[in-house]
Amino acid sequence: MGRFPMRNPLHNRRVRFSRRLTTHLLVRISFWSLLAVLIITTIGFVISYKHAKEALITALIEDTNQHLARESEHFRTVEQSATVLAERFLTRYQEFINDDRFQERFDRWYTETEPGVVRLQPEFYDGIRQGETWFENITVFAGPRTNAISDELKARVTIAQYVLNELAPAWLQKVKNTHISMPENIMLVYSETQPWGLVAAADLVITDYSVVQSTLMEYNPERKPGWTGLYYDLSADFWTITYQHPVDYQGQHLMNASYDIALSDIIDRVIQYQSDSDKRMLFNTKGQLIASPETLSESYQQRGVLDIDKLSNPEYKAIYQLIEAHGADTDHFVLRNALPGELLIGQKISGLNWWHVTLYPYSQVQLQALQGPLRISLATIGLLIFILLIVYWLVSRHVSRPLRQLANMAMMIGEKNYADVISSKHLQEHVRSEVGLLVRSFRTMASRLLAHQQNLEKLVADRTAQLAAANEALEQMAHLDGLTGLRNRRAFDKDMARLSAHPHDTNTTLLLGDLDKFKPFNDNYGHQAGDEALKNVAKCLANFEQVRVYRYGGEEIAVLADVADYTAAKQLAEAMCKAVFDLNIAHKHCEHKRLTISFGVHLVVNDSSIEANIQAVDKQLYEAKKAGGNCVR
Ligand code: GH3
Ligand code: MG
Ligand code: MG
Repeated sequence: MGRFPMRNPLHNRRVRFSRRLTTHLLVRISFWSLLAVLIITTIGFVISYKHAKEALITALIEDTNQHLARESEHFRTVEQSATVLAERFLTRYQEFINDDRFQERFDRWYTETEPGVVRLQPEFYDGIRQGETWFENITVFAGPRTNAISDELKARVTIAQYVLNELAPAWLQKVKNTHISMPENIMLVYSETQPWGLVAAADLVITDYSVVQSTLMEYNPERKPGWTGLYYDLSADFWTITYQHPVDYQGQHLMNASYDIALSDIIDRVIQYQSDSDKRMLFNTKGQLIASPETLSESYQQRGVLDIDKLSNPEYKAIYQLIEAHGADTDHFVLRNALPGELLIGQKISGLNWWHVTLYPYSQVQLQALQGPLRISLATIGLLIFILLIVYWLVSRHVSRPLRQLANMAMMIGEKNYADVISSKHLQEHVRSEVGLLVRSFRTMASRLLAHQQNLEKLVADRTAQLAAANEALEQMAHLDGLTGLRNRRAFDKDMARLSAHPHDTNTTLLLGDLDKFKPFNDNYGHQAGDEALKNVAKCLANFEQVRVYRYGGEEIAVLADVADYTAAKQLAEAMCKAVFDLNIAHKHCEHKRLTISFGVHLVVNDSSIEANIQAVDKQLYEAKKAGGNCVR
């Protein structure tokens, strides 16, 4: 496994690895936190959406309730005013009914305009002072009746005129007209806009109309005050409802204190309050649509009570049926999608027993209710993304980068690049953290490994040197003869081979010597003595200078000398012969009674083969032996 070819792939893998780590971590964090936030947000969203929807509907109801409460209040004020008017009249009536001045005033102020018809003079409408009192806006119509006007009736009418003049101006803002009607076909009207008493038809019998009729004893035996239904006041030319408060005294029906409220006023206050998106309408419990902006013109055209059955739009009938179904025992109800796509809120106007209906596009309620939770959800997710970005930044800065650098350090250690790890200046800022600990560990590891490596290298170098020395010794030993310490036959062969490899370098003489009669020496003196003799001969010959002495084999000695001429060679051989002779090693089987040696001498012919040279010298040695030994040939 070569580590160098792997260097680049490792490096690449290193970079990819660290990026994967950050991405992987972030993807996991993102996934789980997004999941958690989504779950929480969804739950929160659903809950707050529900709440927002309820709150919106409640707000709609509350808002309308306030208006309706004002309307109820208005009606109640009208009822109270009627009571005040009735009570004031009764007080004045008791006080002044027998006062002649009131009959006398009637005679002066009232004129018969048509046969049987008496009206208050027009000045009382335009404005006139009578004694202490200023009269204005008052008209009186006394229509045809069976009996003539009695003194009591005259006084009663005049007293009523005073009371009306006294109280009605204060209520102008609240009611269309304040009027007092009497069962004797008499009607006193206070109106800023219409001199009704002056223009009423001469043959008008007010008790024929349900408005007044409902106050008569035979139609209202309980004598209860109350509101009429909606009717079109032909003479006044507007849709009206009227409050009637009958006043009796000692069993006699004296008058009714009554107020007209124009439908247009109600519409202004209630229906017109609608916004662009909602629709508002009023129903009474008699199956009549009191008001709806959409059908207002239609209602005017019909000039009558707005029976739902007569209306072209079937929606009103459906709404009325819903009121009947859901409004029985409650003052308000809310229906979602009872009419397709509509939120329907029914609210009862207390006192009148009318139903106010608001139609609101349900999708808009949903849309409005969505906005708050949606904003919060988006803000939450936005915040999460922001946090994730910070996490990403922190992770890549404080985890990924140190990790990458640590990984690099580990890789450098893997590549035995210890010095760089030790000297690396990375991650200085993390000294106190776990990263710093790791860095220190890496550095310690690197320096220990480096020391170890250096030790190892030194050890190897030492061992290598020792091995070389041993090898050298071994080499030398391989070329030495164990017994004599001379160069051995292998060394001789090697040197001869070198000579023939460089034939022109030197002129060398080859001597080949053989101990004479050595076998008998052994036989006679023993093998050990033979060895000893061999050693001594070798030592003696090795003392010669500028020669290399070899143990050629057995008791044979080869000598290589850098001697070029034959005479010198022969002298060397003879000197050697003599040296052995002079050793004087006793040998009784020998001619000289001592151990001797014979030499063949041969000037090495470099061009010839090793074998040829050896044969040549061997031949000379043979000649020397043949000559009796202890000689040179
Ligand atoms: P010649 O004069 O013809 O050389 O007779 P020689 O007896 O010396 O010759 P031969 O070749 O017959 O005998 C050689 C002997 O040398 C035989 C052997 O016992 C002896 N020899 C050879 N090597 C050693 C050795 O290492 N130690 C001892 N002790 N004897 C040896
Ligand atoms: Mg021999
Ligand atoms: Mg011999």
